[in-house]
Amino acid sequence: MGKPTVCFIGLGIMGKPMAANLLKSGYSLIVFNRTREKMAALVEKGAVAADSISYCARRADVTITMLPDSSEVSEVILGGNGVAESAKPNATVIDMSSISPVVSQKIGGILREKNIDFLDAPVSGGEPGAIAGTLAIMVGGSEAAFDKVKPILQTMGESVKRVGDIGAGNYAKLANQIIVALNIAAVGEAFALAQKAGLDPEALYDAIRNGLAGSRVLDAKVPKVMKRQFDPGFRLKLHQKDLKNVLETARQIHVPLPLTAIVQQMLTTLIADGKGDLDHGALVQFAEKLSGVTIQKNY
Ligand code: NDP
Repeated sequence: MGKPTVCFIGLGIMGKPMAANLLKSGYSLIVFNRTREKMAALVEKGAVAADSISYCARRADVTITMLPDSSEVSEVILGGNGVAESAKPNATVIDMSSISPVVSQKIGGILREKNIDFLDAPVSGGEPGAIAGTLAIMVGGSEAAFDKVKPILQTMGESVKRVGDIGAGNYAKLANQIIVALNIAAVGEAFALAQKAGLDPEALYDAIRNGLAGSRVLDAKVPKVMKRQFDPGFRLKLHQKDLKNVLETARQIHVPLPLTAIVQQMLTTLIADGKGDLDHGALVQFAEKLSGVTIQKNY
């Protein structure tokens, strides 16, 4: 049996390089993107451009979505002429967006009635991980459905782990996003303090990065902050969306998350200040503004 045909919907910062890795691994790929021009680069590499969601899903064994949040994923999968109406019975739908786990469970239930397998499989690793095919992929769904599509996920991710039933992937991603956001906020406060005290941030970074304060977040964000590079990457407004989903789901299961609530307010402040489309590394600007400093090399 040949490789399954994959339909990929949502060619944004993440979706486009993820789809490119599927092509590179020899999968037949049909793509759909709301803004049609963004399909051209993949068509040049051998993908077929679909003129509608239904055209894409109808022809595929596996449909992947990579969209902003719960409402867009619900619209594309459950809406009129959407994936649920169009996919073949026994097809598999994998949503790789970061959305509410409660919505993943709802979508999974509706698809089950149509004999369509569903997995929520959000990712971590950012645009560099998407390009390199080294994402960490956290998967929720049945073991059988997971085993069937694991080779597809392995073309996009280095670490592909099933963490439980449908919804578990997005619970894992929410946990991931708490840790990343609070880390960036802490980095902002630490470097604002050091900068105001007259330290060279590069010297501070070199001094602490191999100690207990060292982290992937520190290594990914501090060099860019020092160069004032805030082009996304991961848009700050998408991280605010993730923490909104964290707080909503936490409320439903009675889990207080005071630190997350504060950082979500910090992100909201920056969005109100017109910074929502900057990289989430710009979260350090909250601490900068409070203390009137800019974290950059002292020349
Ligand atoms: P982008 O904003 O770059 O891309 C979003 C994509 O969704 C675009 O293809 C856009 O189409 C499409 N889209 C938006 N709304 C609709 C709609 N109503 N109907 C159909 N298509 C729609 O986002 P990212 O690629 O950065 O993020 C995608 C997901 O991945 C998010 O859930 C994010 O949280 C998650 N993620 C992002 C990471 C990152 O570093 N960027 C890292 C890990 C996870 P159009 O081109 O027409 O706008």
